[in-house]
Amino acid sequence: MTTEDFRSAAHATADLVSDYLAALPARPVWQPMDDTARRALLDAPLPAEGRPLGELLAAIERDVLPHPMGNGNPRFFGWVNSAPAPAGVLATLAAAAMNPSSAGGDHADVHLERAVVRWIAELVGFPHPAGGGLLTSGTSMATIVCLAAARNRAARRAGHDLREDGLAGLPPLVGYVTGETHSCVRKAAELLGLGSRHLRTVTTGPDGRLDPAELRAAVERDRAAGLLPFLVVASAGTVGTGAVDAFDPIADLCEEQGLWLHVDGAYGAFGRLDPAIAHRYAGLERADSLALDPHKWLGVPVDCGCALVRDTDELRGTFSLVPSYLRDEAAGALGWFSEYGTEQTRPFRALKVWATIAHRGRTGLAQDIAQCTALARRLGELVKADDELELLAEVQTSIVAFRHRAVGLDETGLNALNRELPVVVQRRGRVFVTGARLGEQEMLRACLLNAATTEQDLHLLLAEVKTAARALLS
Ligand SMILES: *Cc1c(COP(=O)(O)O)cnc(C)c1O
Repeated sequence: MTTEDFRSAAHATADLVSDYLAALPARPVWQPMDDTARRALLDAPLPAEGRPLGELLAAIERDVLPHPMGNGNPRFFGWVNSAPAPAGVLATLAAAAMNPSSAGGDHADVHLERAVVRWIAELVGFPHPAGGGLLTSGTSMATIVCLAAARNRAARRAGHDLREDGLAGLPPLVGYVTGETHSCVRKAAELLGLGSRHLRTVTTGPDGRLDPAELRAAVERDRAAGLLPFLVVASAGTVGTGAVDAFDPIADLCEEQGLWLHVDGAYGAFGRLDPAIAHRYAGLERADSLALDPHKWLGVPVDCGCALVRDTDELRGTFSLVPSYLRDEAAGALGWFSEYGTEQTRPFRALKVWATIAHRGRTGLAQDIAQCTALARRLGELVKADDELELLAEVQTSIVAFRHRAVGLDETGLNALNRELPVVVQRRGRVFVTGARLGEQEMLRACLLNAATTEQDLHLLLAEVKTAARALLS
């Protein structure tokens, strides 16, 4: 390939991507793929011969770009998926052109990752010792990294060499979560051999927050039974309702009892940037570890999670293995990133994080996030003021949990209706919202992550939900 061939294809790509992004808001948010289009992708034959770049671009334009998930659109309220930050989109191309392995060494990507991890810690007000974190594929992986360190510390304190001997011979390690804790925590506990049976579900209050008195009682019960309590997982924004746990009383208990406090901030930790809700996060900085997702509220293009830890040695002591062929004095005192997590060859995620944060600055990011929380509170008010709808939880961050309460339906009927509603709304294509279960109730949950969303979009969302409900009821 000549430089000129590459350059002209790169310019064409830039045009294609710019046109795609510009056209998004006027298109349906999401539409099911028709069978032909789906089959064209699923059954694509392995190409025997190569094709020129121009043809590939045409195929992307024809077969791929017309069928997005929807999360680039300001009327997308589903799950926790943001629109991509434009600066992050551009940086992705440059990062791929360099294509390093960010495992360690003396090249720009490695040093930039140290810097952006420090920036992320600073944005959410978490202490950052040198080396105290790394970028991951997402919070699921960051949680495995943090919980592995927690497990290692607990075993060591019990006089047990986990890395050498494994779990055998150790009393069961017990962790504490709530009914609202994300499934990635259970997945991590299962993978780490802890057993989901040893995750206790602590009661939450009506505000969805972990009850510290219940937590204490559960820990004392397990100690009395000869088990080894070691971990509490608190949430800086639950995925269901956006509830933020009261960290200070939980951290007090963890300090007193020698438990590792892990906070899941995947969705909500960056909410601390908004002065209107910053008080909810008091005590977050006392956690032993924090997992969070720049690929959610910051809009860094997927994938990008982050694990932050208070004690760097715990992380390195859990993962460091330096085979002779990787010895490298140039890595400096902090060593390699691959000594702090599970991956050896690691992608250059730092550039898109750097670009996303540098483009908006702390002030711009805080404005964007404040805009989302203000809109979420407004949506909460609109739901409350509407006789056909019911707000199911206080709006603590930027998730609004609500349901349709059609007259004449009992709880079973309401659950059936609200379970069907999101799919009908999604297929109409004007807005996109998803559902979930909250306790015994099926609900809709609108997650606001896009600063381009307007109040008009909120009205449209509620109108669409009510129209879809009428269609289902008739
Ligand atoms: C998204 C999310 C996760 C999982 O993170 P991934 O980046 O999808 O791996 C965990 N917890 C919460 C609260 C989330 O919103």
